[in-house]
Amino acid sequence: MTDEPIVGGCQCESLRFELKAPPLFTHACHCLNCQRRSGTAFGMSTIVLRRDLIVLSGELMAKQTSPRTTIYQCASCGTTIYAGSTRFPSTYVVRGGTVDDANVVAPGAHIWIKRKHPWLVLPNDVPQFDEDYDLRTTWPREALDRLRAANDALPSGHG
Ligand SMILES: [Zn+2]
Ligand SMILES: [Zn+2]
Repeated sequence: MTDEPIVGGCQCESLRFELKAPPLFTHACHCLNCQRRSGTAFGMSTIVLRRDLIVLSGELMAKQTSPRTTIYQCASCGTTIYAGSTRFPSTYVVRGGTVDDANVVAPGAHIWIKRKHPWLVLPNDVPQFDEDYDLRTTWPREALDRLRAANDALPSGHG
């Protein structure tokens, strides 16, 4: 990891953001929902601490997509940048493809590979799971510690 700021943005480039710290983890999900939602073969979920995500320019539009989930899109072009759930008050799930540097969001796990498009060949050195995965046994210890520390800082009764 270099000292370069981690930045990203939407398709029309009006919405730009910075991550003040590296993401906790990125997984690629090959489930049907992620295929439909992304319009491509898989979704990339880059989990970050909410306090690390800073909007530098542009305007976000919030859209509630389920009782607990809100997605945040560029108000100009509609690119979805991230999603938040009331179940996980410390984190956002950034769409991995919005981050400029692909190395920052290289998936640490591929999940729901039983739905994977058959032409897609995955790297053997990255964990693969037929369905969902247990982040407690898959994420690096350091990422789990950062997540735990953030949760501890939350006011009790939150969410
Ligand atoms: Zn845009
Ligand atoms: Zn999925």
